[in-house]
Amino acid sequence: MILKLKPVFKDYIWGGNKLKTDFGFDTGLDKTAEGWMLSCHKDGENTVENGGFEGKTLNEVIEICGREILGKNGRRFDFFPILIKLIDAKDNLSIQVHPDNDYALRVEGEYGKTECWYIIDCEENAELIYGFKRELTKDEFVKKIKDNTFLDAVNRVKVHKGDLFFIEAGTLHAIGKGILLCEIQQNSNTTYRVYDYNRKDKDGNTRPLHIEKAAEVTKCEMPKYGTKPSGKEIKTDGGSFRELVSCDLFKAARLALSGEMHFDCGNESFVSLLVLDGEGKIENADETLAFKKGDSFFISAGSGRISLSGNAEIIKTSV
Ligand code: ZN
Repeated sequence: MILKLKPVFKDYIWGGNKLKTDFGFDTGLDKTAEGWMLSCHKDGENTVENGGFEGKTLNEVIEICGREILGKNGRRFDFFPILIKLIDAKDNLSIQVHPDNDYALRVEGEYGKTECWYIIDCEENAELIYGFKRELTKDEFVKKIKDNTFLDAVNRVKVHKGDLFFIEAGTLHAIGKGILLCEIQQNSNTTYRVYDYNRKDKDGNTRPLHIEKAAEVTKCEMPKYGTKPSGKEIKTDGGSFRELVSCDLFKAARLALSGEMHFDCGNESFVSLLVLDGEGKIENADETLAFKKGDSFFISAGSGRISLSGNAEIIKTSV
Protein backbone atom coordinates (compact mmCIF):
# COMPACT_ATOMS: atom_id res chain seq x y z
CA MET A 1 0.00 0.00 0.00
CA ILE A 2 1.42 3.35 -1.07
CA LEU A 3 -0.01 6.39 0.68
CA LYS A 4 0.66 9.93 -0.47
CA LEU A 5 0.79 12.24 2.54
CA LYS A 6 -0.39 15.80 2.91
CA PRO A 7 2.22 17.83 4.82
CA VAL A 8 1.55 20.11 7.77
CA PHE A 9 3.25 23.52 7.78
CA LYS A 10 4.53 25.60 10.70
CA ASP A 11 5.13 29.36 10.65
CA TYR A 12 7.76 29.72 13.38
CA ILE A 13 9.28 33.18 13.42
CA TRP A 14 12.66 32.14 11.96
CA GLY A 15 11.12 30.61 8.81
CA GLY A 16 11.57 31.72 5.20
CA ASN A 17 9.68 31.19 1.96
CA LYS A 18 11.68 28.47 0.17
CA LEU A 19 9.05 25.84 0.84
CA LYS A 20 6.73 28.03 -1.20
CA THR A 21 9.14 29.30 -3.87
CA ASP A 22 11.46 26.25 -4.27
CA PHE A 23 9.06 23.45 -3.46
CA GLY A 24 5.86 25.06 -4.70
CA PHE A 25 3.82 24.33 -1.58
CA ASP A 26 0.77 26.46 -1.10
CA THR A 27 1.25 26.81 2.65
CA GLY A 28 -1.07 29.74 3.20
CA LEU A 29 1.47 31.17 5.66
CA ASP A 30 3.54 34.36 5.69
CA LYS A 31 6.69 32.55 6.73
CA THR A 32 7.00 28.82 6.37
CA ALA A 33 9.59 27.41 8.75
CA GLU A 34 8.78 23.69 8.63
CA GLY A 35 6.90 21.18 6.54
CA TRP A 36 6.09 18.01 8.48
CA MET A 37 6.33 15.45 5.70
CA LEU A 38 5.96 12.18 7.62
CA SER A 39 4.15 12.80 10.87
CA CYS A 40 1.88 10.99 13.27
CA HIS A 41 2.64 13.54 15.99
CA LYS A 42 -0.35 15.17 17.68
CA ASP A 43 1.11 18.62 16.97
CA GLY A 44 0.72 18.10 13.23
CA GLU A 45 -0.57 14.84 11.76
CA ASN A 46 -0.37 14.00 8.07
CA THR A 47 -3.51 13.00 6.21
CA VAL A 48 -3.66 10.70 3.21
CA GLU A 49 -4.25 12.22 -0.23
CA ASN A 50 -4.93 9.18 -2.39
CA GLY A 51 -6.89 5.93 -2.61
CA GLY A 52 -9.47 4.49 -0.24
CA PHE A 53 -8.02 6.20 2.83
CA GLU A 54 -8.14 9.70 1.38
CA GLY A 55 -8.78 12.26 4.12
CA LYS A 56 -7.85 9.92 6.99
CA THR A 57 -4.84 10.66 9.16
CA LEU A 58 -1.91 8.27 8.97
CA ASN A 59 -2.66 7.36 12.60
CA GLU A 60 -6.21 6.39 11.64
CA VAL A 61 -4.93 4.24 8.79
CA ILE A 62 -2.59 2.44 11.22
CA GLU A 63 -5.52 1.85 13.56
CA ILE A 64 -7.71 0.49 10.76
CA CYS A 65 -5.06 -1.68 9.06
CA GLY A 66 -3.22 -2.70 12.23
CA ARG A 67 0.34 -2.14 13.35
CA GLU A 68 1.49 -4.83 10.87
CA ILE A 69 1.90 -2.05 8.32
CA LEU A 70 4.72 -0.56 10.42
CA GLY A 71 6.76 -3.74 10.03
CA LYS A 72 8.58 -5.75 12.65
CA ASN A 73 11.02 -2.94 13.49
CA GLY A 74 8.30 -0.30 13.58
CA ARG A 75 6.16 -2.31 16.00
CA ARG A 76 8.99 -2.35 18.57
CA PHE A 77 7.93 1.18 19.46
CA ASP A 78 4.81 2.07 21.42
CA PHE A 79 4.31 5.23 19.36
CA PHE A 80 4.94 5.89 15.68
CA PRO A 81 8.76 5.99 15.64
CA ILE A 82 9.88 8.81 13.37
CA LEU A 83 9.08 12.30 12.15
CA ILE A 84 10.48 13.77 8.93
CA LYS A 85 10.53 17.49 8.21
CA LEU A 86 11.71 20.01 5.67
CA ILE A 87 13.15 23.04 7.46
CA ASP A 88 13.85 26.47 5.96
CA ALA A 89 15.81 28.69 8.34
CA LYS A 90 15.89 32.29 7.19
CA ASP A 91 17.12 33.28 10.63
CA ASN A 92 19.12 31.51 13.35
CA LEU A 93 17.19 29.05 15.48
CA SER A 94 17.66 29.07 19.22
CA ILE A 95 20.42 26.84 20.56
CA GLN A 96 18.82 23.73 21.95
CA VAL A 97 19.16 20.19 23.15
CA HIS A 98 16.85 17.18 23.32
CA PRO A 99 16.72 14.56 26.07
CA ASP A 100 17.22 10.85 25.44
CA ASN A 101 14.43 8.28 25.72
CA ASP A 102 14.99 7.43 29.39
CA TYR A 103 14.81 11.03 30.52
CA ALA A 104 12.03 12.12 28.15
CA LEU A 105 9.71 9.20 28.90
CA ARG A 106 10.20 9.76 32.62
CA VAL A 107 9.87 13.56 32.63
CA GLU A 108 7.87 14.45 29.50
CA GLY A 109 5.85 11.31 28.72
CA GLU A 110 7.12 11.04 25.16
CA TYR A 111 10.22 9.83 23.34
CA GLY A 112 13.45 11.71 23.50
CA LYS A 113 14.96 12.90 20.31
CA THR A 114 17.91 11.80 18.27
CA GLU A 115 17.83 13.46 14.89
CA CYS A 116 19.83 13.95 11.74
CA TRP A 117 20.03 16.74 9.20
CA TYR A 118 20.64 16.35 5.50
CA ILE A 119 21.60 19.71 3.98
CA ILE A 120 19.52 20.27 0.86
CA ASP A 121 20.83 23.73 0.14
CA CYS A 122 22.53 26.59 1.91
CA GLU A 123 23.83 30.09 1.40
CA GLU A 124 27.55 30.65 1.08
CA ASN A 125 29.21 30.73 4.51
CA ALA A 126 26.12 29.36 6.24
CA GLU A 127 27.00 27.66 9.51
CA LEU A 128 25.37 25.83 12.33
CA ILE A 129 26.14 24.95 15.92
CA TYR A 130 27.10 21.39 16.74
CA GLY A 131 28.38 20.51 20.22
CA PHE A 132 31.13 22.38 22.05
CA LYS A 133 34.63 23.51 21.13
CA ARG A 134 35.97 21.90 24.28
CA GLU A 135 34.56 19.91 27.14
CA LEU A 136 32.67 21.92 29.77
CA THR A 137 31.64 21.01 33.28
CA LYS A 138 27.94 21.32 34.14
CA ASP A 139 28.77 24.34 36.30
CA GLU A 140 30.59 26.07 33.45
CA PHE A 141 27.65 25.28 31.16
CA VAL A 142 25.16 27.03 33.45
CA LYS A 143 27.51 29.88 34.32
CA LYS A 144 28.24 30.65 30.67
CA ILE A 145 24.53 30.92 29.90
CA LYS A 146 23.97 33.22 32.85
CA ASP A 147 26.95 35.52 32.29
CA ASN A 148 26.31 35.66 28.54
CA THR A 149 29.56 34.07 27.37
CA PHE A 150 27.90 30.90 26.10
CA LEU A 151 28.57 31.58 22.42
CA ASP A 152 32.35 31.50 23.06
CA ALA A 153 32.09 27.80 23.92
CA VAL A 154 29.94 26.47 21.08
CA ASN A 155 31.34 24.65 18.06
CA ARG A 156 30.40 26.40 14.79
CA VAL A 157 30.56 24.36 11.59
CA LYS A 158 30.38 25.61 8.00
CA VAL A 159 27.81 23.64 6.03
CA HIS A 160 27.71 22.46 2.44
CA LYS A 161 25.02 20.95 0.27
CA GLY A 162 24.93 17.20 0.90
CA ASP A 163 26.39 17.31 4.42
CA LEU A 164 24.88 15.06 7.06
CA PHE A 165 24.81 15.86 10.77
CA PHE A 166 23.94 13.12 13.26
CA ILE A 167 22.62 14.72 16.42
CA GLU A 168 22.41 12.17 19.15
CA ALA A 169 20.10 13.08 22.05
CA GLY A 170 22.05 15.30 24.45
CA THR A 171 24.05 17.06 21.70
CA LEU A 172 23.87 20.84 21.69
CA HIS A 173 22.73 22.12 18.28
CA ALA A 174 21.25 24.99 16.32
CA ILE A 175 20.42 25.47 12.68
CA GLY A 176 21.92 28.70 11.35
CA LYS A 177 20.36 31.14 8.95
CA GLY A 178 20.38 30.43 5.23
CA ILE A 179 20.05 26.64 5.54
CA LEU A 180 17.42 24.43 3.93
CA LEU A 181 17.48 20.89 5.25
CA CYS A 182 15.66 17.63 5.69
CA GLU A 183 15.40 16.45 9.29
CA ILE A 184 14.81 12.84 10.23
CA GLN A 185 14.11 12.44 13.90
CA GLN A 186 12.45 10.42 16.57
CA ASN A 187 8.79 11.23 16.91
CA SER A 188 9.07 13.80 19.67
CA ASN A 189 8.57 17.49 20.15
CA THR A 190 10.52 17.88 23.38
CA THR A 191 13.11 20.63 23.07
CA TYR A 192 15.04 22.44 25.79
CA ARG A 193 16.05 25.92 24.72
CA VAL A 194 19.50 26.81 26.01
CA TYR A 195 20.25 30.16 24.43
CA ASP A 196 18.16 32.48 22.27
CA TYR A 197 20.60 35.30 21.39
CA ASN A 198 18.71 37.52 23.85
CA ARG A 199 16.11 38.06 21.14
CA LYS A 200 12.86 39.80 21.94
CA ASP A 201 9.57 39.42 20.12
CA LYS A 202 7.51 42.37 18.94
CA ASP A 203 6.04 42.78 22.44
CA GLY A 204 9.52 42.91 23.99
CA ASN A 205 9.37 39.44 25.51
CA THR A 206 12.13 36.86 25.45
CA ARG A 207 11.24 33.20 24.89
CA PRO A 208 11.61 30.93 27.92
CA LEU A 209 14.86 29.03 28.42
CA HIS A 210 15.00 25.57 30.02
CA ILE A 211 18.41 25.79 31.62
CA GLU A 212 17.93 23.31 34.46
CA LYS A 213 16.59 20.51 32.29
CA ALA A 214 19.14 21.31 29.59
CA ALA A 215 21.96 21.07 32.13
CA GLU A 216 20.69 17.63 33.14
CA VAL A 217 20.61 16.21 29.64
CA THR A 218 23.38 18.02 27.71
CA LYS A 219 26.59 16.19 26.96
CA CYS A 220 29.04 19.07 27.34
CA GLU A 221 31.58 17.71 24.89
CA MET A 222 32.96 17.98 21.38
CA PRO A 223 30.84 16.30 18.68
CA LYS A 224 31.59 12.62 18.17
CA TYR A 225 30.48 12.37 14.56
CA GLY A 226 31.67 13.95 11.33
CA THR A 227 29.57 15.95 8.91
CA LYS A 228 29.38 13.57 5.96
CA PRO A 229 26.93 10.78 5.12
CA SER A 230 27.91 7.39 6.56
CA GLY A 231 28.13 5.62 3.17
CA LYS A 232 29.83 6.10 -0.19
CA GLU A 233 27.98 6.87 -3.41
CA ILE A 234 27.09 3.55 -5.06
CA LYS A 235 26.14 3.36 -8.74
CA THR A 236 23.31 1.03 -9.71
CA ASP A 237 21.14 0.53 -12.75
CA GLY A 238 18.96 3.59 -13.06
CA GLY A 239 20.97 5.89 -10.82
CA SER A 240 22.95 5.81 -7.60
CA PHE A 241 22.36 5.75 -3.88
CA ARG A 242 24.23 6.74 -0.78
CA GLU A 243 23.55 5.72 2.79
CA LEU A 244 23.13 8.86 4.88
CA VAL A 245 22.72 7.39 8.33
CA SER A 246 22.06 4.06 9.96
CA CYS A 247 21.33 3.79 13.69
CA ASP A 248 19.01 1.82 16.02
CA LEU A 249 16.24 4.32 15.43
CA PHE A 250 16.20 4.92 11.69
CA LYS A 251 18.07 4.29 8.48
CA ALA A 252 18.12 6.74 5.58
CA ALA A 253 19.62 6.92 2.10
CA ARG A 254 19.63 9.42 -0.72
CA LEU A 255 18.61 8.05 -4.11
CA ALA A 256 19.67 9.84 -7.27
CA LEU A 257 17.25 8.42 -9.82
CA SER A 258 17.92 8.65 -13.56
CA GLY A 259 15.99 5.82 -15.14
CA GLU A 260 14.48 2.96 -13.17
CA MET A 261 15.43 1.67 -9.72
CA HIS A 262 13.90 -1.06 -7.56
CA PHE A 263 13.87 -1.97 -3.92
CA ASP A 264 12.02 -4.45 -1.79
CA CYS A 265 9.69 -3.22 0.95
CA GLY A 266 9.66 -6.32 3.16
CA ASN A 267 8.17 -7.12 6.55
CA GLU A 268 10.93 -5.48 8.60
CA SER A 269 9.83 -1.87 8.15
CA PHE A 270 7.61 0.57 6.34
CA VAL A 271 9.43 2.89 3.92
CA SER A 272 9.15 6.66 3.65
CA LEU A 273 10.05 8.36 0.38
CA LEU A 274 10.47 12.12 0.27
CA VAL A 275 11.07 13.67 -3.15
CA LEU A 276 13.58 16.53 -2.90
CA ASP A 277 13.75 17.21 -6.61
CA GLY A 278 12.54 16.00 -10.00
CA GLU A 279 9.59 13.84 -10.93
CA GLY A 280 8.62 10.35 -11.95
CA LYS A 281 6.48 7.35 -11.14
CA ILE A 282 6.31 4.93 -8.23
CA GLU A 283 4.68 1.54 -8.52
CA ASN A 284 4.28 -1.90 -7.02
CA ALA A 285 2.19 -4.88 -8.16
CA ASP A 286 -1.10 -3.11 -7.36
CA GLU A 287 -0.58 0.62 -7.62
CA THR A 288 1.02 3.30 -9.80
CA LEU A 289 1.38 6.89 -8.66
CA ALA A 290 3.07 9.89 -10.23
CA PHE A 291 5.40 11.93 -8.03
CA LYS A 292 7.07 15.32 -8.14
CA LYS A 293 9.30 17.48 -5.99
CA GLY A 294 7.95 17.85 -2.47
CA ASP A 295 5.84 14.67 -2.48
CA SER A 296 5.99 12.35 0.50
CA PHE A 297 4.92 8.69 0.54
CA PHE A 298 4.37 6.11 3.25
CA ILE A 299 4.77 2.57 1.92
CA SER A 300 3.40 -0.06 4.27
CA ALA A 301 5.65 -2.92 5.32
CA GLY A 302 5.23 -5.97 3.08
CA SER A 303 4.33 -3.94 -0.01
CA GLY A 304 6.84 -5.98 -2.01
CA ARG A 305 8.92 -4.87 -4.94
CA ILE A 306 8.75 -1.12 -5.52
CA SER A 307 9.82 0.46 -8.80
CA LEU A 308 10.80 4.08 -9.17
CA SER A 309 11.24 5.62 -12.58
CA GLY A 310 12.08 9.13 -13.68
CA ASN A 311 14.70 11.70 -12.79
CA ALA A 312 14.67 12.65 -9.15
CA GLU A 313 16.47 13.05 -5.85
CA ILE A 314 14.71 11.09 -3.10
CA ILE A 315 15.30 10.48 0.60
CA LYS A 316 14.35 6.91 1.54
CA THR A 317 13.90 6.20 5.24
CA SER A 318 12.97 3.09 7.20
CA VAL A 319 13.30 1.90 10.79
ZN1 ZN B 1 16.70 19.61 17.36
